[in-house]
Amino acid sequence: MELLEEAPHRFRIERHGDMRVPGVVFASRALLSDAQQALGQVVNVATLPGIVGASYAMPDIHWGYGFPIGGVAATDVDDGGVVSPGGVGFDISCGVRLLAADCDRAQLASAMDAVMDGLDRAIPRGAGPGGVWRPSRAGELERVLEGGARYAVEQGHGEERDLARCEDGGAVRDADVGQVGGRARERGLGQVGSLGSANHFLEVQQVAEVYDQAAAGAFGIARGQVTVMIHCGSRGLGHQICTDHVRAMDRAMTRYGIAVPDRQLACTPVASPEGQAYLGAMAAAANYGRANRQLLTEAARRVFRRAADVRLSLVYDVSHNLAKLETHDVAGRRRRLCVHRKGATRAFPPGHPELPEDLREQGQPVLIPGTMGTASYVLAGVPGGGAFFSTCHGAGRRMSRHQAARSITGRELRARLERDGIAARPLSWRGLTEEAPEAYKDVGEVVAASESAGLCRVVARLVPLGVVKG
Ligand code: 5GP
Ligand code: MN
Ligand code: MN
Repeated sequence: MELLEEAPHRFRIERHGDMRVPGVVFASRALLSDAQQALGQVVNVATLPGIVGASYAMPDIHWGYGFPIGGVAATDVDDGGVVSPGGVGFDISCGVRLLAADCDRAQLASAMDAVMDGLDRAIPRGAGPGGVWRPSRAGELERVLEGGARYAVEQGHGEERDLARCEDGGAVRDADVGQVGGRARERGLGQVGSLGSANHFLEVQQVAEVYDQAAAGAFGIARGQVTVMIHCGSRGLGHQICTDHVRAMDRAMTRYGIAVPDRQLACTPVASPEGQAYLGAMAAAANYGRANRQLLTEAARRVFRRAADVRLSLVYDVSHNLAKLETHDVAGRRRRLCVHRKGATRAFPPGHPELPEDLREQGQPVLIPGTMGTASYVLAGVPGGGAFFSTCHGAGRRMSRHQAARSITGRELRARLERDGIAARPLSWRGLTEEAPEAYKDVGEVVAASESAGLCRVVARLVPLGVVKG
């Protein structure tokens, strides 16, 4: 694939074949050294009906189902633009939330073991069922799907201020529960308030470095402070919704005269019944994901309060797998777009009207998990941010799960983490080794490339103190 470096950390793939727009890849050559397959997916996405601007890729790009992970694609809703479940991914509204503790590392030191043991017991995880909240009354799951974190808070699981610090105030509108199939509901019922497995985690961290004092101040974090990061999504419910709607769109596509280079890009126009059905179900899953993170927050708060008399306040909650209807200027025209972000994080600039007042001056907080053994980052949106105000979402995989699991044993990895002062509470050894730090790209490089490309700015670096994994 020929990559033309048109600006620092910005490469262009010229239109060829059926591409309707060019590809634009934000990265360094080093970060792209093993991304050939994923770059082929950037080209495939550029052929989708109604796509505008470019088929974008973030510096943490790697191979995904149909669309690359680390991909952004926007389609024009009023010009036959399509929506594709593969552009959101199987873990709908998977995302990250960061909590700031009212203590620093030294103050937590004596209670750290008790906190980690408490979290180990309190945080349901693994691939199967089990959650902190079992919807009981008839129709309660439906209310979670409609109300997201807002419904959880209304039921006493959190505080009103939490919602101000959630993307969309904790709930997306337009959830259409009727489009969530029976199997998806069944899978969702037993998993409300659970982490899941693999790359999902709850991590206790410390702010190691602040690069932007003003932004850190507004976000509520300072050097030395303890933070808690939660990464999880919509579990089996989101997965089943993706499966069901990919199938429906695959069948319907030809009726709309759409041909795609890869069946995993199944899509139909946003305005079509199938497109609307998917977006309604996707919104329901997004709300499930947000309620999920809200409930796990409450579980963590109880542990921190009991074991260490420490309070946790929400910095921000943002998802990195979602399609959203947004209005953007494209070539001097306001256009209604369906922006797919898959393994990419929305990053609103300073002054954006949708940001809460106390964050507006600094721009949206962006939360970037790195690895359990290295670092994670807090970023902020910037004026004129590229790719429809989007940036990276993590370090990005370098090794397959299988390769990673073969590279080290769970016991070895845990011992190494403990030597580095990081307490590990894995549910399974396999789950731990699949996420070994060496399985990921260098998150510092990813974040630096994102900043240099004009997608965001770096606010703070966080280092792990303890990790709870599936
Ligand atoms: P994804 O959303 O693609 O599943 O994962 C997002 C990112 O989470 C990965 O690219 C990786 O950088 C990060 N990650 C995976 N496991 C851990 C962990 O245990 N701790 C931290 N801090 N980050 C992780
Ligand atoms: Mn996920
Ligand atoms: Mn994720």
